[in-house]
Amino acid sequence: MALPHADRRQDHTLRSAIDRMQQDADQLTNKLKIYQSTVDELCHITGSRGGLVIECLNQTGPFQLLVTHPAVAPTVAHTLPYELEQQTECLNVILQRKEAQIFFAPQLEQLNLSPLGIPPITHMIALPLVHNNNTYAIIALFNSPIPYDLELAKRCAPLLSTSTCIQQSIQASEVPQFNEQPWCSTLHNLVNHTHMPIICINAEHEVIRFNHAAEQSFGVTAESATGRAITEFLPERFPNEHRILTFNPNRIKEKATPQTKLTGRQKNGNTFPMSATPLRERDTGARAILVMLCPNLKLESINRQPYVEIERFKAVSDLAPIGIIQTNKHWEAEYVNSRWCDICGYGRNDVMQLGWINAIHPDDVSSLLEQLRDDIVIGNEFSEEYRLLTPIGNTVWVQLQARPLLDHSDVISGFIATIMDITYRKITDEKLRKMAENDALTGLTNRALFHDRLEHALSRIERHGPFAILCLDLDGFKNINDTLGHDAGDLLLIEVAKRLLDCVRSEDTVARFGGDEFMILVEGLVDASVAANVAEKVLTTLRQPMLLGEQEVFISTSIGITFATGQSKCTPKNLLKQADIALYRAKEEGRNNYQYFSPELEEASKSRLLLGNSLYRAMERGEFEVFYQIQATTSQSQPMGTEALLRWRHPEQGLLPPQAFIPLLEESGLIAPVSRWLWQQAFREHKRWIEQSLLPPESHISINLSPRQLRDAQLIRNLENAIQEAGLSAGQVVVELTESSLITDSNTTRQTLSNIKALGVQLALDDFGTGYSSLTYLKRFSIDIIKIDQSFVRDILTDSEDAAIVQAVLALSQSLSLTTVAEGVDTEEKLTTLAQWGCELHQGYLLNKPCAAKQLSSKLEKLCSYKAAE
Ligand code: C2E
Ligand code: CA
Ligand code: CA
Repeated sequence: MALPHADRRQDHTLRSAIDRMQQDADQLTNKLKIYQSTVDELCHITGSRGGLVIECLNQTGPFQLLVTHPAVAPTVAHTLPYELEQQTECLNVILQRKEAQIFFAPQLEQLNLSPLGIPPITHMIALPLVHNNNTYAIIALFNSPIPYDLELAKRCAPLLSTSTCIQQSIQASEVPQFNEQPWCSTLHNLVNHTHMPIICINAEHEVIRFNHAAEQSFGVTAESATGRAITEFLPERFPNEHRILTFNPNRIKEKATPQTKLTGRQKNGNTFPMSATPLRERDTGARAILVMLCPNLKLESINRQPYVEIERFKAVSDLAPIGIIQTNKHWEAEYVNSRWCDICGYGRNDVMQLGWINAIHPDDVSSLLEQLRDDIVIGNEFSEEYRLLTPIGNTVWVQLQARPLLDHSDVISGFIATIMDITYRKITDEKLRKMAENDALTGLTNRALFHDRLEHALSRIERHGPFAILCLDLDGFKNINDTLGHDAGDLLLIEVAKRLLDCVRSEDTVARFGGDEFMILVEGLVDASVAANVAEKVLTTLRQPMLLGEQEVFISTSIGITFATGQSKCTPKNLLKQADIALYRAKEEGRNNYQYFSPELEEASKSRLLLGNSLYRAMERGEFEVFYQIQATTSQSQPMGTEALLRWRHPEQGLLPPQAFIPLLEESGLIAPVSRWLWQQAFREHKRWIEQSLLPPESHISINLSPRQLRDAQLIRNLENAIQEAGLSAGQVVVELTESSLITDSNTTRQTLSNIKALGVQLALDDFGTGYSSLTYLKRFSIDIIKIDQSFVRDILTDSEDAAIVQAVLALSQSLSLTTVAEGVDTEEKLTTLAQWGCELHQGYLLNKPCAAKQLSSKLEKLCSYKAAE
């Protein structure tokens, strides 16, 4: 048992021993030294007279005595290492148990070290040095004056583990002593530690050595590389290249063998450039070759970086859908990719140096280069859209994006730029813009753009003076559309647009507002006559026949004109309204003319508008009335029929004549229901008059149809129903039409008229002589009655010309066996004259002013009683 004070002393000694060993660890470069130091310290701590280190080469022996404590006989050192007998039992026990053991004399008999001059061992403590659960050495301390105990052994454990630690670190760095020659081991060390990959191959070109750097370079361990063909790491460009050239022993000199450029291949397949220097290895036999590879790992990684970058750039640049250019500081192209050339349509050689500038469109080149220079010289990026002109004359729109390039001293050394073909986008943009601003059919300015121009013109009216707006509406366009079809209608509009453009100066604007409505903006007026001149020109040019395919058509136009003089109320909206009011007036005036806007016109238009509003309620409120006028024989004033005439008893304005509201009825579409109502009234009334014998059974009732009503698809059915409902026969009904209904001569009109005739209804041509109609219409439409217009009748007694016309019409009508009605007969003299000339019927104030049914009944009664009295 160790004494307490001895314990403390020992512990202190142990700690300082461990410290010492750790401090000296750097010098303890060889295992014998560490063993020596350990055994010395332990002998000192345990007070042992002697100590030994026995090395175990493996777990069953052999045992080798390596070190002894100096106190042991000095002769020992010369005979070490000393192989111990295999069967030393006590040692085997320690090996197996891997823990400290105490032995006494009888057990130690086999440990006979007397041949080494070591005195007999009486008692001994054996301490194992264990690493990785293997006992690799045993430290034996013996013949201490104090008895050994296992407690002491435990205390020594830290020193033993320190020893093991140092031992292992030495072993790890220790170079295997493959050759006794000191220079050979140094060389081996060098080969292992250099950064230069070194591979040694045999005559069969198989790897026999592969250093650490090579492991790093190729990503394989020396172990797995050994035995493999060198071509796996340094692939050949052609078979047997290495055998014949690179590593041919006959070519390899011992000194200064030239480098060969090769490609290295890593485990993952990546390749990298390297050069090889083969050396013949002298001492391993003439046939082995040492291959030193360059650059080493570091250099190689530096060199490989730009190589990879360049390869990547090339690939990206070739695949990119954009053109790429790089210039020097003189702006000469030093690099262009193939896409740049494709876009420009020039070859690479043409584009290099300053050739790239030639591809720029001549109209864009100077401004582009100027702007580019302005930005690049101050280090700014630049972006612009411009045109290229290809060698075959195509215009290509591109978007350029340029950025200055700096050299290593931050001086601008040129620029790098990309171009992208944006032609498609430009064309689309332009199309969209045109669509937004132009009329698709004629290409004229559309309503939206005209509005902008109008605002613009208003904004500069002070400086540029007054301007005029001409509002145009083609006369009879709808008929052309209906007759010849929409394609012809389109052709006509295109032709009109062309002619209108010929009538104005280039600075004026001609717009199509839709349908057959056109607008002209005439700016910078010197006086009002300029607008009139334009209007005259338009009327004249549009009157010229137009050829639509093979069809020649005639058209005219109505024009409303207004002026903007910079006065108040001059807003685009107002001006357009004024022009429209003037246009309405032009139409009222019989079309094919122009009218100026005036405040009076505006008033009229306003009241028309008001009328229009109340018109919608007029029907419900029963404000319409039917007036009648008698048609009687000229010979005996025998009533042969009546004409129904529409009236509107306006709540404020009183009784309104048809001219005041029929156009409004037509525009609003109310004409059809109002007409149906009138027919019902008139037919019923007519039936009653016959029943009351106020009219003879063969007498007729006349109704008026406006040209527009002839286009109503329901007309025939409605008319037929009204006749049936009233219980009349169709032959008792006369439809009066003006010549303007016939002049259009469209399919629809012709069809409607023949349908009316087919019902059995008679046709009368109203206001005969005022229109343009030719006599051929009389036959073509099977006209039954001619009504000579009151303007001719009015002056037959005083105006010989009118008298001649009326006589001529009567002669014509007799020759065609038509009935003739003279309108506006207001005196007995006129009646007598007409009777003499052979006119059959008359109508006018002489017989009666138009009046309601009730008054007409009494008028008819009077006529009857007068006749009866006669
Ligand atoms: P219109 O068919 O020529 O009708 C004759 C017009 O001459 C009537 O005018 C009548 O009042 C007027 N008149 C008759 N005798 C004389 C006369 O001796 N001296 C003068 N100065 N005038 C006379 P009103 O009733 O104002 O009708 C005007 C036009 O309105 C008619 O002309 C007719 O074309 C149209 N109209 C009338 N009712 C209707 C209708 O129900 N439907 C359609 N579509 N048009 C109608
Ligand atoms: Ca009439
Ligand atoms: Ca008439």
